[in-house]
Amino acid sequence: AQPLVIARDLKCHFPVRKGVFNRKATAVRAVDGVSFTVEKGETLGIVGESGCGKSTTARLLVGLTGLNAGDLIFDGDRLGEDLSLKELWDGVQMVFQDSYASLNPRLTIEETIAFGPKMRGVASGAARRLSHELLERVGLAPGRFAGRYPHELSGGQRQRVNIARSLAMKPRLVILDEAVSALDKSVEAQVLNLLKELKDEFGLTFVFISHDLNVVRYISDRIMVMYLGEVVEIGPVGSVWDKRAHPYTAALFAAMPSMDPDNRTEVPPLLGDPPNPIDPPSGCRFHTRCPFAESVCSAAKPKIVAVDGAQGHEAACHMLDPVSGHSKSAGGAHL
Ligand code: SF4
Ligand code: MG
Repeated sequence: AQPLVIARDLKCHFPVRKGVFNRKATAVRAVDGVSFTVEKGETLGIVGESGCGKSTTARLLVGLTGLNAGDLIFDGDRLGEDLSLKELWDGVQMVFQDSYASLNPRLTIEETIAFGPKMRGVASGAARRLSHELLERVGLAPGRFAGRYPHELSGGQRQRVNIARSLAMKPRLVILDEAVSALDKSVEAQVLNLLKELKDEFGLTFVFISHDLNVVRYISDRIMVMYLGEVVEIGPVGSVWDKRAHPYTAALFAAMPSMDPDNRTEVPPLLGDPPNPIDPPSGCRFHTRCPFAESVCSAAKPKIVAVDGAQGHEAACHMLDPVSGHSKSAGGAHL
C-alpha cells in the first residue's frame, strides 16, 4: 500500500540576525533535509532533544510552517501541485500540549467541537449532534459537559475536548505534539489508551511527538530519532529500542529515567547541550558529543543505511556503513 505521507528532503530554515553590531542575516536550520514516510494506520513516534526539529517537522506536515525545499506527498498528491494547502488542512489535524491555550474561553465545549464542522457548512443541528456523539466517545458525558466552558474542566478533560474537536474534522492524519505531556501520569495513561482506541475505530494515522521515550515506545509502531534538524535513526519500535544503532539514540535512551531492567546503563550519557543549529558541526552533526567519533566523522556526512539484520531499520553513522571506510571495530562498542 502507498504510504499516507511521503516526506522527501524537507528543509525549513528560519531567518535570524546574528551578532549585536554586525547583524548578519543567517538562518536556523530547524529541519535540514529530512525524509521519511508515514504508513496508513501506523503511529510514527518522533523523538529527540528540544530544538532537534521534531515540532517543526510536525508543523510542516500540517502546512502550518512553509517548506523551503523538499516534497510533501499526502496520499499520492504532491503539496503545491496536486494538493492545495486547504486540501491538506482538510485531511490533517494537530493536537498540542497546552490544552487551555488552544481552546477559545468564550465558547462552550459543544460550540468548540461544532465550530469546525459548521465552518465547513455542516448545519447547526447536525454539528451539535456530532459534538455530543464525540463528547460521549471521548468519555465526557454530553449532559454534564456540553454547556461548560474550558476553565471549568481539568487538564485531562480539556485534552479530551481537543481530541474530540480534531475528530469532528474527520482527519486522516492526526499530529500529536506533546499532547499528553502536561497531564498527570494516571490521566496520561487513560488518554493514551483512548487515543489507541480512537485510532483503530476511526481508521486514523498518528504522528506522535514526545520527549517522554516511554510514552513514545508505548504508543508507536515506528520511531524516528532526530538530531539538529536531521533524521539519525528510523525503524520499528522494537528494533530501534533493542539495537540503538546510532550512538545518539543509545545515549538518548540511556539518559532516560526508567524502571525497565533491560535499559542498559553502560552507555555514557549525553554530555552538554546540542550545538547551535545556526552553525551545525560539519560531517556528522553528532561528532562534537559522540564517544565514538573518529576523523572521518567531522569530515564527511554519514549516509542513512540499513541496520544489519533489521527490516525497515536505518541509521546514519559512519560505523554502520561499510563503504565509508570507518573502522569496523568501533561499531561493536555500543551495540
Ligand atoms: Fe559518532 Fe561518527 Fe557515528 Fe557520528 S558518524 S554518530 S560521530 S561514530
Ligand atoms: Mg516541541
